[in-house]
Amino acid sequence: MAVIEAKRLSVRIPTEDGIVHAVQDVSFTVEAGQLFGIVGESGSGKSVLAQAVMGLLSGAEVTGEVLFEGVDLLALDRRELRAIRGSRIGMIFQDPLSSLHPYFSIGSQITEMIHTHERVSKLAARARAIEMLERVGIPNADERFDSYPHQFSGGMRQRVMIAMALVLRPALIIADEPTTALDVTVQAQILELLESMRREFGTTVIMITHDLGLLSSVADQVMVMYAGNRLEIGPGASIFSDPAHPYTAGLLRSSPANYEPGSELVPITGRPPSLLRLASGCVFSSRCPDAMDVCHAQRPPLRVYDDSVEVACWLEHAPSSPEPVTLAQPD
Ligand code: SF4
Ligand code: MG
Repeated sequence: MAVIEAKRLSVRIPTEDGIVHAVQDVSFTVEAGQLFGIVGESGSGKSVLAQAVMGLLSGAEVTGEVLFEGVDLLALDRRELRAIRGSRIGMIFQDPLSSLHPYFSIGSQITEMIHTHERVSKLAARARAIEMLERVGIPNADERFDSYPHQFSGGMRQRVMIAMALVLRPALIIADEPTTALDVTVQAQILELLESMRREFGTTVIMITHDLGLLSSVADQVMVMYAGNRLEIGPGASIFSDPAHPYTAGLLRSSPANYEPGSELVPITGRPPSLLRLASGCVFSSRCPDAMDVCHAQRPPLRVYDDSVEVACWLEHAPSSPEPVTLAQPD
């Protein structure tokens, strides 16, 4: 069963310089209980897409449909959306310091969240908040209940955010770069935590990240975005073992999470195109090692492989592998 289904979602953002085509005609379906990864460099439109889905973009023109449990989120008014946000859809943002209120204890912020959506006693809300804080690995949750966000480390704040997103048992969690600011060990722990929550509660998770390698062990489905476009979408297993799009192949070669001492990281050179103009050819053509004449002139068609992978590319064979660049080993 599909929990969320986006159909031809487009987002145009008016700016002083003109209209930014932040998301262009993106469709995807997330099945119940899946971990769905959305990956792309910064500016690829992945965060804008998530915000548009949640009705958090003001001043943007959002078109298409986003069916959540059969209801088009884009057709709801603010009040209806607020009721869904938090209770049916939980969000975890990149920066817990800006998402948690600095002047309120973490316990009061979580119970406030419960009281907004459910009629429960203060005591019951407190007990639930503490239980969830324990579940996400906050030690002495009972004592830490009255602590303020600044009294926690970055990793612990991220856990508090996850507790807050999960406490109402939403059907869907959208985690936008939940681990970017944290060190590698904490990143792994947070991912593991989200993964175990998914197993325990059957929560569907949309995980947004710029690091494709991070998703490799956890994602059922992966959607690769670039310059507002969906370039490849398919089961995690085939995306990682056999990327069909040159950009996906490039992301894999450049992923720090894939790095092993002695291996080679190959950065994707060049910059994404401006989103002020819609490209006539392939959006990746200026950086693609496999670009052909047709790529600069015409939009690539969507090809379907093995009934499960969709790729927007003219290439009829596997992407080539550019010469690796040997980087100094990190300390
Ligand atoms: Fe590269 Fe052409 Fe495929 Fe675009 S369509 S990714 S330029 S090969
Ligand atoms: Mg972002």
